[in-house]
Amino acid sequence: MDFSLNEEQLAIRNTCREFAEQEIKPLAEEMDHSGKFPYALIQKMGELGLLGLPFPEQYGGAGADFLSYCLAIEEISRGDVSVGITMEAHTSLGASPFYLFGSEEQKQRYLPALTSGKQLWAFGLTEPEAGSDSGGTQTRAVLRDGHWHINGSKAFITNAGTEITSGVTITAITGQRSDGRKEISTIIVPKGTPGYTIGNAYKKMAWKASDTRPLSFEDCVIPEKDMLGERGDGFKQFMQILDAGRVAIAALSVGLAQACLDEALNYAQTRKQFGQPIGKFQAIQFKLADMDMEIELARLMYWKAAWLHMQGKPYSREASMAKLFASETAKRAADQAVQIHGGYGFMDEYPVSRYWRSVKINEIGEGTSEVQRMIIAKSLGL
Ligand SMILES: Cc1cc2nc3c(=O)[nH]c(=O)nc-3n(C[C@H](O)[C@H](O)[C@H](O)COP(=O)(O)OP(=O)(O)OC[C@H]3O[C@@H](n4cnc5c(N)ncnc54)[C@H](O)[C@@H]3O)c2cc1C
Repeated sequence: MDFSLNEEQLAIRNTCREFAEQEIKPLAEEMDHSGKFPYALIQKMGELGLLGLPFPEQYGGAGADFLSYCLAIEEISRGDVSVGITMEAHTSLGASPFYLFGSEEQKQRYLPALTSGKQLWAFGLTEPEAGSDSGGTQTRAVLRDGHWHINGSKAFITNAGTEITSGVTITAITGQRSDGRKEISTIIVPKGTPGYTIGNAYKKMAWKASDTRPLSFEDCVIPEKDMLGERGDGFKQFMQILDAGRVAIAALSVGLAQACLDEALNYAQTRKQFGQPIGKFQAIQFKLADMDMEIELARLMYWKAAWLHMQGKPYSREASMAKLFASETAKRAADQAVQIHGGYGFMDEYPVSRYWRSVKINEIGEGTSEVQRMIIAKSLGL
C-alpha cells in the first residue's frame, strides 16, 4: 500500500495551500461580514486552473486526477469554506454533469467557459418539498412541439445567481415509467431564459459569501435537445454526481477541521494562564491530540474513497462514510477549538467563532448525516 502523493498531486496541494494562506485567509473575516461574493478571488482561481481541475485539457480543464481535485478543495477550504463550497459546487455539481452525461456538442459548448472559471454553473436538485427524498421532485417538464415546458421550483441552489453564473442544470419529471414510478430527467436551463426566475440570496448562518438561492420556473421553454443524457436517466445521474460530490465535501470538512486545529494549536502556544502557555496543560494537549488524530483519519477516508473512484471501483459506501465522518470530525474540532480559545473563541474577530458556525452545514448539504447512515446501513444489507 502506497500512501504517498505523486508530484502532480503535491504540486496542486502546495499551490492551493499557498493561495489559501496568502490570498483567501486574509479576506475570510470580511467575506463573512459583508456576505459579498468574492469575484476577484474566483477570477484568480480560474486563472490558476482551479475551477476545472478534474476535466481533460480538450475541454479547457487541468487534466488532474480526482484526488488532486479533493486535495485542492481541502486546502482552499482551509483558507475559507465559502470559497471552498463555491469551487466544489461549481466543479462537482455544475460542470461534472456536462462532462459525464453531455453530448460532445454540449461539452464543447459549455465546458470551456466553466473550466476556465469565466462562468459558473449550478445544479438544481433540491425542491421545497423534496430534500432528502430527492426522487420526490415535483418540478415538471412537458414536451410540446419540440420543446420542454418547465414548471416548478428549486430550493437552496448554490452558485445560481452570481453575475458570472450562466445557468443551472435541473431535474424534472418528464413522464411516467412503465412500473408507474416518475420518469426524472436532467435539463439544461441557461440564465435569462424567459420563465426562469432566480430568487433573492438566502441569509445564512455561515457560508455567507457563497451564493445560495431559490429558483422558480413558470412556463419556461427549453429546446428538446437541451436535455443532459438520456431521457429518464435523471435519478441515476444525480446519484452518481452526489457520490463524487460527497468525497469532495469530505475533503472540504477536513480542510475546515484542519483550520480549527491550526488556530487552536497556535492559540494554545501563546495564551498564558497560571504562568504558562495553556498548551502545557495536559487537558489542552489531549484535545489537540484528539483533533489531530481524527483529522488524519477523516483525511485517509476521503483519500480511500477518491482512490476507489479513480480505480473505477464501487465507492458509494466509502463516499458516505468519508462525508459523514469528516463532517462530524469538523464539528468536534470546531467545538474544541472554541473551547481552547475560552471567551475569545466566542468573539467574532477570532476565526474559530466563524468555523463553529460553518461546520453545521457539512452535516446537511449533499445528503444529511441521516442519509449517509441510511446508505451505509443499506450496504450492510439492512
Ligand atoms: C447552503 C446550502 C446549499 C445547498 N446547495 C444545494 C445545491 O447547490 N443544489 C441542490 O440541489 N441542493 C442544495 N442544497 C440542499 C441540500 O442538499 C438539502 O438541504 C439536503 O439534502 C436536505 O434536504 P432538506 O433541507 O429538505 O431536509 P429534509 O430532507 O426535509 O430533512 C429534514 C431532517 O429529516 C431527516 N430525514 C429526512 N428523511 C429521513 C429519513 N428517511 N430517515 C431519517 N431521517 C430523515 C434529515 O436527515 C434532516 O435531519 C443546499 C442546502 C444548503 C443549506
